[in-house]
Amino acid sequence: MRRRQFLTGIAGITACGLSLPAFARRAPLKVGIVGGGIVGASIALHLAEAGADVVLFEKTAPASGATRNSFAWLNAFVADRHYQALRLRSLAAYHALDVPLGLGIIWGGYLNWARDAAEAQIVRANAAQLDGTRFPARMLSAAEFAALDSAIEPGPIAAALFSSIDGHLDPVWATERFLRRARQHGAHTVYPCELQGLRFHQGRLTTALTSTGEIPLERLVVAAGVDTPRILAMAGFELQLRHAPGFLMHSMSLPALTNRICDGPGGVEFKQMADGTLVGGDSPEPPDLPVHAAIRERAMDFPDEALRAWHGTRVLDKIKAFLPGAQAVALDHVTLGFRPMPTDALPIVGAVPGATDVYVAVTHSGVTLAPILGDYVRREVLGEQKVDALTPYRPGRFMAVLRKS
Ligand SMILES: Cc1cc2nc3c(=O)[nH]c(=O)nc-3n(C[C@H](O)[C@H](O)[C@H](O)COP(=O)(O)OP(=O)(O)OC[C@H]3O[C@@H](n4cnc5c(N)ncnc54)[C@H](O)[C@@H]3O)c2cc1C
Repeated sequence: MRRRQFLTGIAGITACGLSLPAFARRAPLKVGIVGGGIVGASIALHLAEAGADVVLFEKTAPASGATRNSFAWLNAFVADRHYQALRLRSLAAYHALDVPLGLGIIWGGYLNWARDAAEAQIVRANAAQLDGTRFPARMLSAAEFAALDSAIEPGPIAAALFSSIDGHLDPVWATERFLRRARQHGAHTVYPCELQGLRFHQGRLTTALTSTGEIPLERLVVAAGVDTPRILAMAGFELQLRHAPGFLMHSMSLPALTNRICDGPGGVEFKQMADGTLVGGDSPEPPDLPVHAAIRERAMDFPDEALRAWHGTRVLDKIKAFLPGAQAVALDHVTLGFRPMPTDALPIVGAVPGATDVYVAVTHSGVTLAPILGDYVRREVLGEQKVDALTPYRPGRFMAVLRKS
């Protein structure tokens, strides 16, 4: 409770449903959002709640992109202090939204431990990232580790940290909850509906051309994940994202063992979801092996089922080594996702240079950042406020404007 108050305090933001500045227009602003991932869904909620006339179009189904394939760890681990403050504000925003929206966040914290000197250096560097914040990580002895989480058998510990503010969620469920509340505030969600073109008149956006017809719009928010560059090109703006694949093992369900995000030796990360399944991986990107060559170049599925199953079994076996209570659990499935990864790893948020009715919100860590981006994008798109906290993240830093038709 005390931690929640702290987090809400540092955010200085309003929870959904509290009073917001009056929306001084005769008719609500007509805002389109392209992309029904967690970022687009949060933006739809915040805009609809503030009185905008929102239509969100999604080419497949909600949460079908990076969001579905995300580890969905909510955290503030990053070296850049400004970006870290943004992440902390988003954690606070999640605390405000969790119960009202029924997000079901598991606020179990983050355990990171090392078995040798080289890994211990990384653990200490991770802990140092939170030094000087109001939520520093705590270094743990082996006895403290055991007292904190007896379900985990960590093996020899060269260093261990615990960060109490971290959480995790089911990203598909959370996206659906954001969209449900957005619809309660009058937003329309349309899928399958692919944005295929934009029409401008005298420099102002007038129409979205979609696979289900033309939609008149005054503003468009592009939250299209890895497809964002293709859509921004329609507005004359060139953007490149880094190709960043990642796979995750999902087990069958088992009784509750741990509520932590666990990050152990050998890069093994795992968590247990509210439904009892384990989710985990052991490598931020597919290892540089010939069998991964195609995946490391372009978005695709696993080339064959054998590779998928091999990764799944391999990762599950590693997790079982740290989680004795999971010995009997079987592999369910393995996902392969593609992070919307800006080339400098920082969010890209703001009006598109040369097409100011078009606004972009694309980022890695979009699950962590969705609530704060929803809040900030609402303020800017509705013209309530230019959000200074977004200054380092403007799309103009990648300036390479093509000729806008
Ligand atoms: C393996 C992995 C692990 C991750 N771990 C974490 C983590 O622990 N913590 C964290 O915070 N983040 C994590 N991320 C990143 C996070 O998942 C993403 O940043 C976030 O999901 C992005 O959400 P989004 O809504 O911007 O994009 P997406 O979820 O990709 O949604 C974009 C949507 O736009 C739709 N779309 C695209 N083009 C069009 C079009 N022309 N018309 C209509 N619709 C269109 C797509 O169908 C898609 O549904 C991870 C990602 C991966 C892949």
